Amino acid sequence: MPRLLFILAASATLFAQTPAPTKDSGKATREGAEYVAAAATSPSAKVMGEIKAHQQAVSNLQYLCDEIGPRLTGSDRLVKAHDWMESQMKTYGLVNVHREAYDFGPSWTRGVETARILGHNGLNLQVAQMAWSPSTNGPLKGEAILLGGKTLDEMMGLIGHLKGKIVVMGSFPKAEGDPKVRREKMMKLFGAIRSEGIAAFLLGSEKDGGFLTMTGSPKGGRFFPNVPGGFLNKEHANLLKRLLEKHGSVQLELNFGGTTSEKPVQAYNSIGEIRGTERPDEVVIIGAHLDSWDLGTGATDNGTGSVAALEALRGIQASGVKPRRTVRVVLFSGEEQGIFGSKAYVKAHEAELKNIQAVLIDDLGTGKLRGFAMEGREELRPFMAAAIAPLNEMGVRELPLEQSDDSDHAPFIEAGVPAFFGIQDNEDYFTTTHHSQADTFEHVKPEALAEGATAMAVTALELANMDARLPHKAMEKPKEAAGH
Ligand SMILES: [Zn+2]
Repeated sequence: MPRLLFILAASATLFAQTPAPTKDSGKATREGAEYVAAAATSPSAKVMGEIKAHQQAVSNLQYLCDEIGPRLTGSDRLVKAHDWMESQMKTYGLVNVHREAYDFGPSWTRGVETARILGHNGLNLQVAQMAWSPSTNGPLKGEAILLGGKTLDEMMGLIGHLKGKIVVMGSFPKAEGDPKVRREKMMKLFGAIRSEGIAAFLLGSEKDGGFLTMTGSPKGGRFFPNVPGGFLNKEHANLLKRLLEKHGSVQLELNFGGTTSEKPVQAYNSIGEIRGTERPDEVVIIGAHLDSWDLGTGATDNGTGSVAALEALRGIQASGVKPRRTVRVVLFSGEEQGIFGSKAYVKAHEAELKNIQAVLIDDLGTGKLRGFAMEGREELRPFMAAAIAPLNEMGVRELPLEQSDDSDHAPFIEAGVPAFFGIQDNEDYFTTTHHSQADTFEHVKPEALAEGATAMAVTALELANMDARLPHKAMEKPKEAAGH
């Protein structure tokens, strides 16, 4: 889940409907007491009780992360994860458990990755090869230069001098002058970087404290050509930048052994469901991406979302509650390389999209779930406010209008389907675990994970049981939507 959502999550509290509960607000108000009495026997209360008493999300996550491990799309480990999650679905009594394949592109396997400064302080740099970038085919020695400068014109001076260089991404000068002229200069500069034949490139992680980051895609990137690339930790990147600022160039040795498969591979989405009793063809989807980056074990991105989605369906099934509409879990893949799995799902299910009541996506780490981003669809607020009402006492009450396009809800939204993104407390997601080597099981907050699963289960169940259909954007027929 990319960076934009950090801003979204951080700003979510600004859009809170009511203030978040404080620790000492637990005194039973009259309203609260009535809520408890009315809710105790409701279907949602049964599901909440089941998950509270018997949740398996934490042990499932530990198995997924510690035993199966990183789940790069196209890798055998991700296939193992699909196998295991589907077997869990069957164990929990879900039906129509199956896997849908789509064409992904070549797979990529991480290999040796080292970088060191030749001369100067001789430091071994902490580096990770950018996924899907090509191997250096053994140690590559070369001259590093800094892509940065005090002014844009200073940077433009690099054009014509890039061939064979290891380009280190520095900070860009402040945006000054005519934006149009500036954009033209930048396009020219990046055009030169793509065409002059650079040997490799290095980027710094945004995180402090040695935490790396990762990205990459079989479709390639926008800025750099298809040459070996890597991420340095922030401290080592800054050290290298200081040396480059002082000396103009520095000799480096890189060795990146990551390899791309010769042939394209298929990737998969795993699906299971609880059939609705009254309107089985109408569906509420709880979705999360099962794939992860491969420096850690994908605990918070997105093991937590995957096991919470599974737990939500386990909770409903084990509680004995029978939803009126079908509730379906979909575990996507290829999210990290370009939201490929959910795009493929939407394409393959085009004819059935009109029957989707709603999609709930869980992909924001390990923090407590606070509500759902409304993705710009204010008219859906009454439905969602009703759906999360049983969770208000748990602190799930935020429905910010924000819109984002960087997780698996995006392809559904594009198709007009009501789709909502779970808003969670940030914890240390974007500063530590997100895409880094520290995305491991011990960073997960077990209580918040179980609560998140509960929130997904109850919201889905309420949406599955309500009389009204949520209007799709392309339909926009409020009279029909409001009441059958
Ligand atoms: Zn994610």
